[in-house]
Amino acid sequence: MEVVVRPEELATFRGCAFVPTMGALHDGHLSLIREAKKTDKPVVVSIFVNPEQFAPEEDLDKYPRSLEQDCEFAESVGADLVFAPTVETMYPAEPENIHLPEAATHPQLEDACRPTHFRGVCVAVARLFDLVQPSVTVFGLKDYQQYLVIKQLIEQESKRWSDLQIIGADIIRDDDGLAMSSRNVYLTTDQRSQALGLHKAIRCTSEEAMLEILDDHGLEVEYAVIRDCETLLSPTEGKPTRALVAALLGHIR
Ligand code: AMP
Repeated sequence: MEVVVRPEELATFRGCAFVPTMGALHDGHLSLIREAKKTDKPVVVSIFVNPEQFAPEEDLDKYPRSLEQDCEFAESVGADLVFAPTVETMYPAEPENIHLPEAATHPQLEDACRPTHFRGVCVAVARLFDLVQPSVTVFGLKDYQQYLVIKQLIEQESKRWSDLQIIGADIIRDDDGLAMSSRNVYLTTDQRSQALGLHKAIRCTSEEAMLEILDDHGLEVEYAVIRDCETLLSPTEGKPTRALVAALLGHIR
């Protein structure tokens, strides 16, 4: 497996299966790489901690970074190339003024709690798609709103990345039920058991029950809702739904 930083070195990987990440790889990310492998296309993994998607008060400086180990992990599950661009490569000029899809502006979920977040995500992902030119990309359903935002971005920009397909990969959890996340390293043992309230809450069928569980676990709720799984707006009779939760434990979101 190769590790490259310059976009010129991506030329032979056009049409690959592409897994964008911010590094600090864990089994959740590796499952995305395994999904990408199933396409039988060369697999490219990007590692880029994207400053544009962090608000000034967020954890950009503290965000865990472990490039060497990430490359070993990626290789262990069959990635063919790791692309680790610099900020200068990603943003040579002013970031693109991208038109945000509805899922990034209407649902009043992440978009309301982190008003600049999806603009930063979309600008980085668009730039990565331009540089890598994949034919398939894999995103985790753990960040369900993000998955829908990127799905809509691809539909909206269908001429720019023609025939690009998106795969949504299932959430990978630790044995105790907590979804794997690079930020879990910030949790103390006590906070970790509190965080399990998230897993219990998303299996509820009413928002009231979700809020009660989250409160019992001492989680400070940002949102705990059940929404239409395509629009992320209020559920409509007979259409599939998703439970979505964001909560804080101290400063850890
Ligand atoms: P990140 O490095 O946190 O930006 O995540 C990169 C990709 O991995 C995103 O598509 C995430 O949704 C996905 N991901 C992160 N954690 C998990 C998990 N536990 N299960 C499945 N996908 C995940």
